[in-house]
Amino acid sequence: MTQKELFAKKLSEIKAQLPEGSSLLVVSKTRSVEEIKTYYELGLRDFGENRVQELSDKAQALQDECPEIRWHMIGHLQTNKVNALFKIPHLYAIHSVHDLNLVQKLLKSQDLLDHSLQIFLQFNTSKEEEKSGFEDYADLSAAAELLLSSPKLNLAGLMTMGTLRTENFEGEAARCFQELNKVKEKLQDNLQVNLKTSMGMSQDYKIALQEKSGWVRLGTMMFV
Ligand SMILES: *Cc1c(COP(=O)(O)O)cnc(C)c1O
Repeated sequence: MTQKELFAKKLSEIKAQLPEGSSLLVVSKTRSVEEIKTYYELGLRDFGENRVQELSDKAQALQDECPEIRWHMIGHLQTNKVNALFKIPHLYAIHSVHDLNLVQKLLKSQDLLDHSLQIFLQFNTSKEEEKSGFEDYADLSAAAELLLSSPKLNLAGLMTMGTLRTENFEGEAARCFQELNKVKEKLQDNLQVNLKTSMGMSQDYKIALQEKSGWVRLGTMMFV
């Protein structure tokens, strides 16, 4: 099988599992621009990266060849990288907005954007220490309200990751995703908005789809 045939097979397998309202983004971190281009040629448009520099290099390399590409920043974002991020061509969304300080920096720099961005606030449902994300509903709600007043940063939804270190991986993933759905519903009611979720990776995407995730972020399984 050629690489393109293999990718086509993976893509059709996963698409067959996506219910209405759930979309796939392929996490292309550490993968080559050629691999990304192959998925693009197969019709995929959404790609996720977790480092600003790598994202910037790939976005520039593919800028002309993949004019309809939509880049998603999914990794930890430092405030001192925001200006560089905002200059990246075809940047579509940030899934990893993890605290109020970062929201304020995004708002301060938004004039650098020539188009609007989809913003997901990351909520820490696993409470694992190395994970970032809001832990407090009041802070999350304050961040959401700040975004609602922005002309360019669209509050798109909430993102989370399931617990990594656990004996009960599937049970923990379900608990984390259900908690995010509860937080989402509360925020929707309080702010009268409509939100999506971004949850599910290679190991737990089936559980995320049962919990109606708006975006599943699949890396490893799309390439091996
Ligand atoms: C790497 C990464 C993914 C994809 O993980 P896989 O296990 O390779 O599917 C999803 N979300 C985030 C935030 C990541 O950093």
